[in-house]
Amino acid sequence: MALIVQKYGGTSVGSVERIQAVAQRVKGWRDRGDQVVVVVSAMSGETDRLIGLAKSIQERPSPRELNVLLSTGEQVTIALLAMALDTLGCTARSYTGAQVQVLTDSAHNKARIRDIDGARVRADLDAGRVVVVAGFQGIDEHGNITTLGRGGSDTSAVAMAAALKADECQIYTDVDGVYTTDPRILPEARRVTKISYDEMLELASLGAGVMHNRSIEFAKKFNVPIHVRSSLSDITGTMIVDQPELPNQAAVS
Ligand code: ADP
Ligand code: ASP
Ligand code: MG
Repeated sequence: MALIVQKYGGTSVGSVERIQAVAQRVKGWRDRGDQVVVVVSAMSGETDRLIGLAKSIQERPSPRELNVLLSTGEQVTIALLAMALDTLGCTARSYTGAQVQVLTDSAHNKARIRDIDGARVRADLDAGRVVVVAGFQGIDEHGNITTLGRGGSDTSAVAMAAALKADECQIYTDVDGVYTTDPRILPEARRVTKISYDEMLELASLGAGVMHNRSIEFAKKFNVPIHVRSSLSDITGTMIVDQPELPNQAAVS
């Protein structure tokens, strides 16, 4: 039995049908006997829509209120996914970042995670439930909702995996792994099967937007194995680990 943290990005939960497909995938892991924590993003386009709403009222909304608003996107998807799991007979409970005490600093819109209280999550897992957690958000020491910056759900997932000492953090997205460069821009880009944290950080600094930069830093610090793969196929994807398979033949250089 393994403890797996899975993160599904905006496209992967972008419609009711996609959320139901995610529930099926999660159930597959549960049926194999694994414990699963799922971290989700808001439905694709939702965070932009919320920012637009705020700006239609106030050009520079207070960061505190903007974060209260932005966190709702992920609150929608956690509840819908828990319901979709329930219809499959897979018991699940959803939690916002504040509820599982994703404690951050007070830097609204770019908050850093300081600590996660894994006890509540572990209790649910031990009771046989799937735990669904809202990505991208936390709470500061004063009880204010914070968000981690655009694309921050990757960091939520890796931090959760580190806090729970999970066996693997799986990042499900709309591309089937990490490529040498963005495959949407350069069709001849190659998919890499294994890449080190440092190589991934280098790739990210060159603009590879496939994962939130801070999530790789977190993974490196706590040695969390990451598996980037597609939510739409069963292709193996890319492992991001401490060392590439052949240290003297780096996947990306
Ligand atoms: P999610 O919503 O699942 O978090 P993102 O849009 O944040 O997904 O990241 C996935 C996208 O990253 C892909 O659609 C792809 O166009 C882009 N991307 C940029 N650079 C790379 C790369 N080197 N390898 C793979 N995908 C990349
Ligand atoms: N929903 C947030 C965003 O659109 C966080 C994420 O998707 O990772 O940036
Ligand atoms: Mg992303």
